[in-house]
Amino acid sequence: MLNSRIRDVADYPKPGIVFKDITPLLADPAAFAAMTLEFVRIGRELGATKVVGLEARGFILAAPVAVNGDFGFVPVRKAGKLPGEVHAVSYQLEYGEAVLEIHRDSFQPGDRVLIVDDVLATGGTAAAALQAIGECGAETVGVAVLLELSFLPGRARLAEESPVLPVTSLLTV
Ligand code: 5GP
Repeated sequence: MLNSRIRDVADYPKPGIVFKDITPLLADPAAFAAMTLEFVRIGRELGATKVVGLEARGFILAAPVAVNGDFGFVPVRKAGKLPGEVHAVSYQLEYGEAVLEIHRDSFQPGDRVLIVDDVLATGGTAAAALQAIGECGAETVGVAVLLELSFLPGRARLAEESPVLPVTSLLTV
């Protein structure tokens, strides 16, 4: 059911790329709810206390997971968006570099963090989030994504950061 709500958009954001567009899924309340409850189940199984959403689509997915699972929500944002003191992690994009930031005081001792995002591709974004959470002194107990692009090395990239970290995808292509 979730699978049928993801649309392939050819040549976006540039020629040769097939972009996985999740907006049809977000527009379908039954599918959105099913996805949310699946993330909540994963979070509970892992004993999560906080859910980290990655800007921007990760915010849309993670916020209802936090509310429905009774987890706290923590945003990881692009550079310069958070008002408080941050830990910043830079990571490689295909061309150039990007920076992700997290508030230094996002976590309390004993917090267990689930990272939620829409798509796992090369793994660079999730790996940077993992590092940022680590710099805050918190423990990440899992990464959960709606869709994993298994022809890209995202899972291996995350295993480099943390070999035993559970990485769960609701869908794989
Ligand atoms: P990565 O860092 O793993 O290469 O890329 C993952 C990040 O880029 C995620 O935050 C995700 O939102 C975005 N992304 C990369 N490819 C796609 C795609 O085909 N569809 C969507 N919805 N997001 C993508």
